[in-house]
Amino acid sequence: MAETHYCWRCGIAVPLLSEDEWSAIEPLLRAGIRDVQNYSRRTQAELREALERNQGVPALQAYKDITGFLETNINAIWHHRRSQFGVPCPQCRNLLRTPRAKFCAECGSTAHLISPDS
Ligand SMILES: [Zn+2]
Ligand SMILES: [Zn+2]
Repeated sequence: MAETHYCWRCGIAVPLLSEDEWSAIEPLLRAGIRDVQNYSRRTQAELREALERNQGVPALQAYKDITGFLETNINAIWHHRRSQFGVPCPQCRNLLRTPRAKFCAECGSTAHLISPDS
């Protein structure tokens, strides 16, 4: 099940995919990014415009089916993977930015290093 957590890149709480969900969506993401790049090459469009016109719709749809969350930017889904984040900060409850983070970038706490994480 996707867990909803604050995403520091997006600045909002978003569903983060479990590994099972990620493996279902990853091929669609790869295909979607390829579509965007092909569109860009074919039409000489700016990558930004290609993204706006061809947003890897199957991947966005699959993400919505799994999470109920309507994401409009295929690039954002690339980092909405629970395993890329760390444990929840014992102090502010935000997820650490990486599994190996030495401190919480949101509140500066290092409490997760000493708390017995059961
Ligand atoms: Zn994000
Ligand atoms: Zn914190």
